[in-house]
Amino acid sequence: MNCRYCNNPLEVYYADMFDNRYGYPGTYTMWKCKNCDHLSLEANFTPEMIGELYSNYYPRKHLNLDDWKPYKEVSGFMAWFKGERSAAHHWVPKNVRILDIGCGFGETLGYHENRGCEVFGVEADDNIKRVADKYSFNAEVGLFDPEHYQPDYFDYVTMAQVIEHVTDPVVSMKGIAKILKPGGVAILTTPNAKGWGVKVFGKKWAHWHIPYHLHLFSKKSMKKYAAEAGLVLEKAITLTNSEWLHYQWLHIAVYPKRGEVSVFWTLNAERTTSQKIKMKILAGIHRLKVNYVITRFFDAFNAGDNSVYFLKKPL
Ligand SMILES: [Zn+2]
Repeated sequence: MNCRYCNNPLEVYYADMFDNRYGYPGTYTMWKCKNCDHLSLEANFTPEMIGELYSNYYPRKHLNLDDWKPYKEVSGFMAWFKGERSAAHHWVPKNVRILDIGCGFGETLGYHENRGCEVFGVEADDNIKRVADKYSFNAEVGLFDPEHYQPDYFDYVTMAQVIEHVTDPVVSMKGIAKILKPGGVAILTTPNAKGWGVKVFGKKWAHWHIPYHLHLFSKKSMKKYAAEAGLVLEKAITLTNSEWLHYQWLHIAVYPKRGEVSVFWTLNAERTTSQKIKMKILAGIHRLKVNYVITRFFDAFNAGDNSVYFLKKPL
């Protein structure tokens, strides 16, 4: 097997990986391109299998419309210390035209609207419809289709924790390139498998998220993929929310056997007393801000678990 974009031979990075969150059956191999360091999961899913994967195995939060709130602006020391600017929307300026691909329950749409933006969203989870109807958001249910928008239209396009899920990232990026204005910017956040987390936690790193994450980028492979789509990688940093490290410890503390669900990741899973105690202890440690210090330390060297990529459409 060769890398789709550099045509270099792939080598096995990890064999024998499994869904350690929701217990979807099967074992999977993570492949690495020797040239661009891109990691890709060998998962030849048919559209039917993808449908089953997400509808039967991927738990969705229950959305109560009365509890819905837009994301808030963050600033100051605590926001920095916690790593709150890790999310893509925090990098979008005020008063611009923006599309958020994978807009979840529309919290980002409210955020941008409150900042004077003309905002659009697209989301596969049809719960977005309920939010959009109530608050009159321009949100579409389904997968991103560039044909639904005017070319050269958006100042910004964001994709937060989405690009790693798509089958062919270059196709998505080409679509983004088409609808961005010349000089417009795409902001992509995605797990970073080149950081300290993978080196320390190996196969138990929380963000492999087998078999949902199909692509894990290096800076080199992001640059190459973007160029293929007609975009230029302007800036790449890591900025990681400290909650992620808390999740990492919880992930390991209650690590499931193959085929079983993780009582941390799965909603309403029954927990044993020992699991509950472990999780309580980790919550106590998290309150001491230890995870904040560790994530800030590694992000200072751009070696954190979450990458933020800025891709510009040339003028
Ligand atoms: Zn490659």
